[in-house]
Formats: sequence, C-alpha cells, structure tokens
Amino acid sequence: MAFKEYREWHSKCNLKIVAENLIKRGFKAKCFDDVNEAKNYILSMIPPNATVGVGGSVTIRELGIIEDLESRGNKVIHHWIKGLSSEDSYRIRMMEIGSDFFLSSCNAITVDGVIVNADSSGNRVAALAFGPKHVILVVGTNKIVYDLDMALWRIYNVAAPMNSRRLGVKVPCAEAGYCVDCDSIDCPVRIIEIIKRKPQAGDYHVILIDANLGF
Ligand code: SF4
Repeated sequence: MAFKEYREWHSKCNLKIVAENLIKRGFKAKCFDDVNEAKNYILSMIPPNATVGVGGSVTIRELGIIEDLESRGNKVIHHWIKGLSSEDSYRIRMMEIGSDFFLSSCNAITVDGVIVNADSSGNRVAALAFGPKHVILVVGTNKIVYDLDMALWRIYNVAAPMNSRRLGVKVPCAEAGYCVDCDSIDCPVRIIEIIKRKPQAGDYHVILIDANLGF
C-alpha cells in the first residue's frame, strides 16, 4: 500500500464518522470521493424550475455549480457580483434567504456533527438557520475539526485570514495569516452560528467530499 492510500483511508474514515453523527442530529448526509460526482448528485436534487440562493462560499464557486444551474435554466440568486450598490447587495441577500434551495458550505464541522459558521453581515447564517425550504451544505475534509474549540480556532486562524485577504480588507490577519484579536470594524467574524441539530423547518443535506475545498 502506498503512503497516499493511508491518507485516503483515514480521510474516508473521518467523512464516514461525521456523516453518521450528522444523521443522528437529524441532518441528511452523504459522502463522496469525487467533486464531480458530488456536483452531479446536487444537481439531481434541485428541480430545474427551483430558485437557488447561494451564500458567500468559496466552496460553491470552486464546484462550478452556479454555471451548471444557470445553463439548465435555474434562477440563481447570489450577491458576489462586482459593482453592486449596497442597496442592491442587501436586496439580493434578502432574495437568497427567500429562495427554494440554499447552497453554502460551513467554516467548520465537528467530528460529532455540529456545524459552525462565521459571518459578517449575517445573511448566510440567517439562511442556514431559517428561510429556504432546502439547505444543501457542501463540505470538504479540510473543514472537519475535533470539537467546538477547534472550530473557533479554525474560523479565526484559517478562514478569517484567507477571506480577509481575498476581500482585500486591511486587517492584521490578512497579513499575518492568523488572528491577533484586533478590534477592526472590518473583522469578518462578527457573528458565529452553531447549528447543533437540524433546524425544525425544511430539510438539510450535508454533502461531504473527500477533497480540500474552500476556506
Ligand atoms: S479579530 Fe482581527 S485579526 Fe482576528 S480575525 Fe478578526 S480581523 Fe482578523
């Protein structure tokens, strides 16, 4: 057995235990080895006439699923559009929350199946808690952490620095690569949401992929 195979085996074990624990918490969960296979599965879950809101998510953009949905006729609502006025951005975020399906990732997921997200304006965490009847969360193995402390560590020291750098905001973590606990108004971690069990309304699918995806 080559060394890589041990890594792959361990990664699959992690995905399997997370999926089992998510199911115990009321979520639907499914594991995939391959990004395209996962994407095709998600496309098969969404009717062609459904509206699809997309949260601020690098994972979803990396999947390339927005283009696939649009090309087959789905109305996709997302606010990562250059040059949007703040009024339009607000309006679109509200429409995302009212869509039939909502696609997003999370910032961390614990081995025992708790989903943790950080947000700055709050539209993504709002939609993940209430609004769209169907939530599909796409999660790569890089988001799996042992517990809530590790989830917070990951949010501040992995997700926040990369997102701040991507957005070009002048905060210390965008230079240092880790959180220095500053007081910047531009901190991307203004809200932290912990989803312990499936929210009562709607259905919730977590698609776990054996790949490094998003921040
Ligand atoms: S507190 Fe400051 S350094 Fe830490 S994540 Fe927020 S912006 Fe970055």
